[in-house]
Amino acid sequence: MPMTYKPVTMTARKRIALVAHDGQKQNLVEWAKFNRNTLSVHEIWATGTTGAMMEKTLGFPVSKLQSGPLGGDQQIGALIVEGKIDFLIFFWDPLEPQPHDPDVKALLRMAVVWNIPTACDRATADFMISSPLMHGAYERLVPDYETYRQRSLPGEAKPARSAKAKA
Ligand code: PGA
Repeated sequence: MPMTYKPVTMTARKRIALVAHDGQKQNLVEWAKFNRNTLSVHEIWATGTTGAMMEKTLGFPVSKLQSGPLGGDQQIGALIVEGKIDFLIFFWDPLEPQPHDPDVKALLRMAVVWNIPTACDRATADFMISSPLMHGAYERLVPDYETYRQRSLPGEAKPARSAKAKA
């Protein structure tokens, strides 16, 4: 069955999550400093240590979650699932192993599952933040997972709804 999509509206004021691994924090600080004015009109969320650095850099409050290795990445993933985050800037470190590597993968996976714009490096973040789409509402197309929810499982009778659809 072909996948269908449902529009989810992002308002002009985006809910942006910022995360940087230790080796990438300076990179994010410089990027945030450069983009301070743009970021100031949006709602900023961040993992604990990144968030504290962002508050210092940006000079306005940021919603801080747990530190990444203590569950902060998972909290951002959960907020994405709940439709409370629109945009992810995640400077993960390609040269350092992380104790919470499964959480990193899980967060990146959730961002794709829910079609969240995601930047993992500065160049992509530059292109994203300077997009004209930042300044207005945007209809994000999220796959309609109803087909997945209604899938038949091995050994189970076909769900009534798909049997009806076939009739
Ligand atoms: P931190 O977490 O901002 O608390 O350092 C980032 C991460 O490692 O995911």
